[in-house]
Amino acid sequence: MRIAETFSSIQGEGKLAGVPSLFIRASGCNLRCRWCDTPYASWNPEGENCSLERIIGIVSKAPARHVVITGGEPLLMPGVAELCFAIHAMGRHITVETAGTIFELLPADLISLSPKLSNSTPDAESGGPWSHIHEQRRLSIPVLQQFIDTAADLQLKFVIQRPEDVDEVCEVLGKLRNWRAEDVLLMPEGTSAVVLEERSLWLVEQCQALGYRFAPRLHVMLWGNRRGV
Ligand code: SF4
Repeated sequence: MRIAETFSSIQGEGKLAGVPSLFIRASGCNLRCRWCDTPYASWNPEGENCSLERIIGIVSKAPARHVVITGGEPLLMPGVAELCFAIHAMGRHITVETAGTIFELLPADLISLSPKLSNSTPDAESGGPWSHIHEQRRLSIPVLQQFIDTAADLQLKFVIQRPEDVDEVCEVLGKLRNWRAEDVLLMPEGTSAVVLEERSLWLVEQCQALGYRFAPRLHVMLWGNRRGV
């Protein structure tokens, strides 16, 4: 398994924001979001191959009960199910963070789906061939539905840059069944506290109007755009 980094921090996003957690970041992604904040796991994947035993050793030494398997796209990682089973057997809580374009049944306590809106697609100038590839791959309604139908618990976390992105969220949700409004989170895109604050003000109003959750990015507000937090 190619791992870009492991680190202990607090969960910065979603339902479990603020919970002390160990992060295991898979390297490699099948998408190339324009605003990706972990390019070392997507655009320029870094990291070394780690055995299951080595990762389990890191988990066993971590004080946090919560383990977050993130990326990159962890569903691309060979052995991700085996890793989840092993961590689950240790009595830890597992969150798997995925863009929801590839399905696999995993023993996760929380599936954190982050379907990618059109604001994520890079233009041809900056993304080259990835502009087209990303646009084709970024959203799979059947895969999202499989996760919704099988997850023990899930959240649908959308990254919002502009007010009109919220209309696109409603379009996506209109194609899905059996989701709960309390599991829909709208999160401002931004890698600085100033940008997040500006976008949060109008996004909170949209959340109130629609009955969806507002999701801050605590780690950016606390530490800025830093790696390993
Ligand atoms: S899916 Fe996640 S890791 Fe992959 S490019 Fe988009 S933001 Fe980056």
